[in-house]
Amino acid sequence: MFHLPPLPYEPTALEPYLTAHTFDFHYRKHHQAYIDNLNKLIAGTKFEHMPLVDIVRATYGKHEYEGIFNNAAQALNHTIFWSSIKPNGGGKPSGKLLAEIEESFGNWESFRSEFRAAAISLFGSGWLWLIRREGGGVGIMKTSNADTPIAHDLEPILNIDVWEHAYYLDYQNRRPDYVDAFLDHLVNWHD
Ligand code: MN
Repeated sequence: MFHLPPLPYEPTALEPYLTAHTFDFHYRKHHQAYIDNLNKLIAGTKFEHMPLVDIVRATYGKHEYEGIFNNAAQALNHTIFWSSIKPNGGGKPSGKLLAEIEESFGNWESFRSEFRAAAISLFGSGWLWLIRREGGGVGIMKTSNADTPIAHDLEPILNIDVWEHAYYLDYQNRRPDYVDAFLDHLVNWHD
C-alpha cells in the first residue's frame, strides 16, 4: 500500500511561482490519484509488496502491465519532482553539481539554455530530467508521458514536470514562463 509522501514545505510556500491552488490540485489530486490507482491495480498481485522502483522496472515495456507501469512511474516521478523544487530555490547550483554541469556542458549558461529549450520543446506530456551519466558527468533527458530514467537504469538527479496539469492553472499555455520560474526561483539543486 503506497501513500502520498509528506513534503517539507507548505502548499503556499512556493508562491507566487506555483500557487497553493496549483499545488493542491497537483499534489492532492493528481499525485494522489496515481497512488490510489496503483494500489488498486497491484492488490492481490505479485507487485503488491514490491518497492516502487522495482515495480517500475518490472513492468516497463510490458503491454499487460501498462496501467501498473503508468501509475507506478507517475507516483515515483512526482515524488522526485517535489524534492526537485523548494521555497527560495532556483539560480545557479554550487559545489560538485556545478562542477559536473560545467564539465558536461562547457559552462552554466550553456546548460541553462539547453535545459530550458528541452523543457519548452518537449512535445505533449512528459518530464525533463537531469541525470547522472554512467561513465561520469551529467546529462539532460526527455521522457514522454510516465516514462522515467529509472525504467532505463539511469540515475535521476532531478526533474521538472511539463505535463500541462503542472502549470496550466498558473501559466495557461505559457510553458516558457513556468520553466523560467522553475530555473530562477524553484529548482532545488542537490547532488
Ligand atoms: Mn504532474
